[in-house]
Amino acid sequence: MPIRYLKTAKEMLARGTPGYLVFFVTPYCNCRCAMCFNARVVDEANRRKILTLEEIARIARNFPGLHYINFSGGEPFLREDLEHIPALFYRYSGTRFFTFTTNSSLPEITEAKLRAICESCPDSWIRINQSLDAIGPEHDLIRGKPGLFASVVDLNQRLSRLTRSHPNLSVGIVTVISRLNQGREYGLLDYLYQNLFFSDYGVLYARGETRDPAAREIDARAFVRFHGAVRSRAKRRPEQRGLSARLYTALHQTAGLLLIKVITEDRYVTPCQAGRRMLVIDDQGSVEPCEILKVLIRERKSSLESSDLGNLRAFDYDVRKLLTTDHSKRVLEHIIEHRCYCTYECAMAANVLYTPRLWPLVLKNFVSL
Ligand code: SF4
Ligand code: SF4
Repeated sequence: MPIRYLKTAKEMLARGTPGYLVFFVTPYCNCRCAMCFNARVVDEANRRKILTLEEIARIARNFPGLHYINFSGGEPFLREDLEHIPALFYRYSGTRFFTFTTNSSLPEITEAKLRAICESCPDSWIRINQSLDAIGPEHDLIRGKPGLFASVVDLNQRLSRLTRSHPNLSVGIVTVISRLNQGREYGLLDYLYQNLFFSDYGVLYARGETRDPAAREIDARAFVRFHGAVRSRAKRRPEQRGLSARLYTALHQTAGLLLIKVITEDRYVTPCQAGRRMLVIDDQGSVEPCEILKVLIRERKSSLESSDLGNLRAFDYDVRKLLTTDHSKRVLEHIIEHRCYCTYECAMAANVLYTPRLWPLVLKNFVSL
């Protein structure tokens, strides 16, 4: 595995197609979270023309040097053929790092699909990220699904067992801090360290156009304090962390520290790699540099007409062709020239990954874990 990291780092230094992908594999979701930034898509799921497995295979064949995929949705594990998708990128794109973000509503199905994925992509790091925003009924209320908290615990126990037979599997937990749970986050932190199995824990800032607009009313100072508490707590439990999870934690801590600057000082801190090294593909094959730029445009904070780079169906499923259009070039230039900034964690993680001058910070965080 360490050889894999050296190879990936070498590829990251070379210029090429984006290496970091957020892939919304389904618009379907069985939750109705108050802080969902994808609520419009979830609500119109039945009307969408979702990429088939064959179409995804074509995308994978035309996407060399793709290091990392974050599978999202909707709820990814609602997609019946999900377990076949990572193997396509593993085989054709050389992808070796995968994350699945889940609401944990389908413990049995999730366990079976993950087992199959771990086995079909043996030389890879597979990470499942369980969302948990509060304890007990409060979590169910925020996520709009009765019984969800019990499902989170059930899946967590299954994952704990699964990691023993599948060492390439790692478990993360993530909390979206919003107005709905802020004030009770320290109790949650204690709960999960005492009761749940995980290798990394992260906190996100509610972002985008949330289903409940009030969810974004966050006390930024309190978020920053909690972020500090999460970082110092992470140092106290190294035993469940392998090399990959440690690196992941160090990377995200670095990204988190940069995001805190953005949040507290409301300013640009580093060139955004969205569109260059990171892309977002939705369930219908539409490509954007990130999930936030369109929101900034709608809120009239940008002079761009559209952040939509096009649909892969119109470009022979070839991301390289799509990125060479005049419009794509204009969008990417705009991001750099206008020193675009926001609080999107995935983009900041990609910025850290693909900006070598930030790597010493990752190393410093890695060593301190
Ligand atoms: S936040 Fe995730 S789990 Fe919740 S409704 Fe949106 S897509 Fe579903
Ligand atoms: S700074 Fe944010 S909104 Fe701007 S391109 Fe990057 S991720 Fe998108």
